[in-house]
Amino acid sequence: MAQLPATTRTALGARDACFSWRAAGERVALVPTMGALHEGHLALVETAAQRVDRVIVSIFVNPTQFAPGEDLLRYPRDEDEDLRKLSSVPCDLVYLPSAEEIYPQGAGQMVINLPFLGSDLEGAVRPHFFSGVATLVAKLFLQVMPDIAVFGEKDYQQLLLIKALTRDLHMPIKVVAAPTRREVDGLAMSSRNAYLSNYDRALAPKLYERMCEAKTDLEAGLPVSQVRRRLRARLLQDGFSKIDYVAVRNPNNLQAKGPGALMGEARLLCAVRLGETRLIDNIAINIEADLGPKT
Ligand code: AMP
Repeated sequence: MAQLPATTRTALGARDACFSWRAAGERVALVPTMGALHEGHLALVETAAQRVDRVIVSIFVNPTQFAPGEDLLRYPRDEDEDLRKLSSVPCDLVYLPSAEEIYPQGAGQMVINLPFLGSDLEGAVRPHFFSGVATLVAKLFLQVMPDIAVFGEKDYQQLLLIKALTRDLHMPIKVVAAPTRREVDGLAMSSRNAYLSNYDRALAPKLYERMCEAKTDLEAGLPVSQVRRRLRARLLQDGFSKIDYVAVRNPNNLQAKGPGALMGEARLLCAVRLGETRLIDNIAINIEADLGPKT
């Protein structure tokens, strides 16, 4: 069996490692996660390792991004299994902070808000979520000080928010996006898929299937309003219990697209419920013929 990666539970340990690598001329990536690792997370580590010399993975189930009544307590946690999985990829250090290490003054004492990007879509349904994410990620970035950080397109709004956060706080950290890893049936990998009953797990891939149909319709020139309506109706027919949103947005700033036919690039973003479990997914829409000349 491959050797388990080195670990640290302190910010100082993570920063010391990062600084000594950087002092030796090596470049360092941070891959923040909440653990319960799957191939999607491991692909982020591989993406990081292709770009830099050293990779630090953080594992922290961040209490401030869960609202009361959400799944903080039952969120899957298995540190030994996560370390075993990380031994199969080029991970140099795993940072496993306690809540006190991240929130020494107590959670909620200092909060970063991005009101525009953080209150729409996921933020409209989960008002705590993005301030929790932004605060944690800013702290991790300042604790570790990596050269780059890798995030998944699976959480597309989160990816854009973190890009905006680093830009606005003048952090010299490059945020790199990695594509969504899917199961063979198309379901986007997620730690929360473990919550799905067998019945719901069989239905879950329909989300991606229906989104791909909508992509085809949008790229064929059907109006956005019609495609969104049709997608909602099909998802409800399929048996998804609730639709939080079906949105077609500008891929750079998530502003809404008009109701008519699309031009250029867009992002289709969806969140649905299957019993108690929320599934989110997003895909690129690309109407190449209408992209116009490059500037
Ligand atoms: P999480 O542990 O769910 O907070 O996710 C940690 C990181 O992994 C985030 O950057 C996610 O976007 C990314 N991630 C989660 N699922 C996937 C996936 N299926 N494909 C690619 N990246 C993912």
